[in-house]
Amino acid sequence: MMIERPYQVSMRLEARIRRKAAQFFGGERAIWMGDRPCVTFGFDDAPMSAVETGAAILERAGARGMFYLCAGFWGKTTHFGEMAGRAAVERLVVAGHEIGCHSAAHWDCAAIGPEPTLADLDDNRRRLGPLLSGARLQHFAYPFGSASLPLKRALSARFVTARGVRRDLIRGGFDRLNMPALLVNSAPDCMAKAKRALQSAIARRAWVIFFTHDVREQASPWGVKPGDLADLVAQATDGGARIATMSEALALGQTASARLND
Ligand SMILES: [Zn+2]
Repeated sequence: MMIERPYQVSMRLEARIRRKAAQFFGGERAIWMGDRPCVTFGFDDAPMSAVETGAAILERAGARGMFYLCAGFWGKTTHFGEMAGRAAVERLVVAGHEIGCHSAAHWDCAAIGPEPTLADLDDNRRRLGPLLSGARLQHFAYPFGSASLPLKRALSARFVTARGVRRDLIRGGFDRLNMPALLVNSAPDCMAKAKRALQSAIARRAWVIFFTHDVREQASPWGVKPGDLADLVAQATDGGARIATMSEALALGQTASARLND
């Protein structure tokens, strides 16, 4: 089976400036002040290994994950392996995991602009909606972490949060339209950084959002081995952190929002 090569975001100067500007401007400020540290585990795209192995690791800890789905991947095989389909989404919903929106086609949304992006998000919502047992798609993750100022404005009224890829913890003020998150893969330096970030979140009673893709022994460079994911989950629970989906975490932090930087 032909598998497309992984897409690389543009490294041209204007594209880099566009993505960087979206990390610092055009935000909408929210406040998170939980009384316990909090960890969200996100699975983007979502490969079957995340739906099966990743979800099971969280469930064994009594926790649930955040699955940012692309309906365009249903029935396909990518560099992450076999991708989840409708039945897998229904299983996640029944098990209490939260479904987020990650676009239908997994385009670089900052590169294509707001109008085609919104049409694609509507397509994803239309296909996912009937599978959600009445729940709404409240949270978005930018494919490739690629955000722009016009895109942030366009998404403001559609989603409670939009997640980027800036590495940071959340305590106090944050931008709900480009939320920080840390990629977790099984490279030794990446796992070490993730463990240090989690340790710091526990010490500061902060919220850390991790994201990954496939969960398997032969993980891709964007995925994680099951044992490494289980180690992080154990570190979180041993440290007294609450493992929560995005909606659960926001509720635990009693967020309030106000406009920022406009
Ligand atoms: Zn993705």
